Amino acid sequence: MIRKNSLFIKLFKIKISSNFLFDLFMKQVRPESETCPVCKSSGKLHIHCYYKRYLIDFVGGKPVRHEVTVLRCICDSCGATHAILPDFIIPFCSFSLFFVLRVLGEYFLHLHTIEQLCERFSISSKQLYKWLKLWKSHKAQWLGFLNDLDLSDKGFLRALVRMDRVSDFTSGFVRTFGNSFLQSHANPKNAVYCQDVFVPDYHFCRPLNGTHDFVFPSIYDGLITKRRTFS
Ligand SMILES: [Zn+2]
Repeated sequence: MIRKNSLFIKLFKIKISSNFLFDLFMKQVRPESETCPVCKSSGKLHIHCYYKRYLIDFVGGKPVRHEVTVLRCICDSCGATHAILPDFIIPFCSFSLFFVLRVLGEYFLHLHTIEQLCERFSISSKQLYKWLKLWKSHKAQWLGFLNDLDLSDKGFLRALVRMDRVSDFTSGFVRTFGNSFLQSHANPKNAVYCQDVFVPDYHFCRPLNGTHDFVFPSIYDGLITKRRTFS
């Protein structure tokens, strides 16, 4: 797996869905310019295959399931294959990073009962608690024990939302711990690698404020201003 940085703006400024972002991202990917996380060779990767996966977002006030096509490349030098994934996709998870953060944000703001929240996002309470456990674990890992005690869940999410470049955090998490933020499954045992090269970066070539009815801003407004007007 090769994680790619793509979130170079504040999260609340993104007003289009993950699948649309993914398509923009894929148009720029050049496997031959990537570095193999296994053998560290650069310029040795090329297209191996494509595969489909689901990506669930929260669009227009409801969960929407999209299908996206992921590129897997192969390294001529060591033979390892790697899916190329932008950082708004959580490995081994059908839900987008934005979706999970939104669920957690509404939970931390106590906007709904657990039952209402699960119904709103079409998730089970088991799934919600799994994400909460993962969030708390990764937050503690990232901040360290003492700082973790000092910063609330809401405060940490607010900090992520306000970051100028969220990718600095997501790639830093991968560099430090070997797995992605909010990734619940460990990488396969045969995937012995350590990604420390993330360049080249692919910048989206158009403003991320398309016509999609994407509702991140409402939750982010809530985190920043504590308003309780949500769509
Ligand atoms: Zn290699």
